[in-house]
Amino acid sequence: MTEKKALLISAERSTFQGALWGAHDRELPLNVAYLAAFLEFEGFGADALDLQLQLDADAALRGMNFSRYFIFGLSANLSGAYAAYRTADLLKKLAPGIPIALFGAASVLKSIALNECESIDYVILNEEETTFRELAARTASGGDVSDVRGLAHRRGNNPIENPQREYLRDLDSLPFPARHKFDVKQYFPSPGKYKLMPQFTMLSSRGCNGDCLFCPRLTGKGMRFRSAGNIMAEIDMLICDYRAREIFFVDDTFTADRERVMAFAELAAGRKIAFRVASRVDMVDEEMLAALKRAGLYSIGYGIESGADEILKINRKGVNTQQIRKAVETTKKLGLEARGFFMLNMAGDTRETTEKTIAFMASLPLDLVNVQITYPWPNSAMRQYVADKGLAINNEKWNDWTRCRGDEAVFTQNDLDADYLVETYKRVVRNFYMNPRFILKWLSRIRTYHDFKYAFLQFLALAKSVVGGRAGAKTD
Ligand code: SF4
Repeated sequence: MTEKKALLISAERSTFQGALWGAHDRELPLNVAYLAAFLEFEGFGADALDLQLQLDADAALRGMNFSRYFIFGLSANLSGAYAAYRTADLLKKLAPGIPIALFGAASVLKSIALNECESIDYVILNEEETTFRELAARTASGGDVSDVRGLAHRRGNNPIENPQREYLRDLDSLPFPARHKFDVKQYFPSPGKYKLMPQFTMLSSRGCNGDCLFCPRLTGKGMRFRSAGNIMAEIDMLICDYRAREIFFVDDTFTADRERVMAFAELAAGRKIAFRVASRVDMVDEEMLAALKRAGLYSIGYGIESGADEILKINRKGVNTQQIRKAVETTKKLGLEARGFFMLNMAGDTRETTEKTIAFMASLPLDLVNVQITYPWPNSAMRQYVADKGLAINNEKWNDWTRCRGDEAVFTQNDLDADYLVETYKRVVRNFYMNPRFILKWLSRIRTYHDFKYAFLQFLALAKSVVGGRAGAKTD
């Protein structure tokens, strides 16, 4: 085993949530913390560096001594891929002999990232822990990586994707994320995204059983769960070591396993901890939500996407508007906060179905909405759908990964054009956020100087997205 360490870097952040909700969150990169903990558990040293916290990321890197590292892991989201490329280029100049492996959401680019950035040596194709550990072991011993599953690499100048690796089944066997490698005080959510501070993010499951057309499948198909006891052990550690008062579960579908959720609710009911989650409308019921509320749940987000049943069907959402209404109304009846995520320009959408979606959105008792114009992610069936249907794409934007923020149209279909889509996006933002009821509610959530500062920044971002935003450039 090498004495040298891995340096895991979270690239400068370019938020997926775009101009809307979450544009100014500072979230600890949980995937980096998980990987650091796993590598240490497996006998490799690992340091973590979050470039989103640096005023000048380049200067921070230039000031570092890299002699104690033998491999770099570089994590980025898709819209931050170009920032990660720049970081990789700088790292290559500063430490030319150290290999760089890209992981995180940007890894959906697979070989494309190797073609677009010469400085990146490897891409971890899906879940990072086991593949990165094997890559680190091979790198440390100067071994060949051509048979490392779940890895994209180069043979000569040609990118090669090795066969995929099986996802980890036993999530309880993973060590808790190495939060101690970060300055946790530097991370905080925007106002409206927490009730009690300090809030910490946690992951209680990986993957999703859904089959949505537009999903990039970042966490894998099929679900793997941590046990209720294992989740509680991490919460107890967070309460004890960090005085945590709230948990934001970043799972795609927190409530997918009913038995586990009920067991968790029973255990958590004894702790004074608030939490919020996201789920699917077909995976909640009144008894479950009531039990979760007693345990500390105060907010739940649902991927609603559309108000037109035919569009939900084409996009393989697996739910209908009746189920959506029932879940949202039950959530509100129990006194929980309900958030809804919507998409414009889904497969098959027209002006008529878009207007149906907006009317449906207005008819639901939602506390918060987030809307995005569909971005056909690499690796999603949606990207193939657009190609197969020969839909009009904007050539300039189609392969520009900074465009996945959801506030502009990169393709059009039926009677939808880019200007209509961007205008509709702005209309939703205006209707929902720029009304006195929402503004008063929002102001009532401001509790600290940080809240004030970030509420102000968020307001500016919202105003910009309504007044200016990104132009709906023409599609070819
Ligand atoms: S969009 Fe959400 S519900 Fe659909 S497959 Fe992806 S993670 Fe699952």
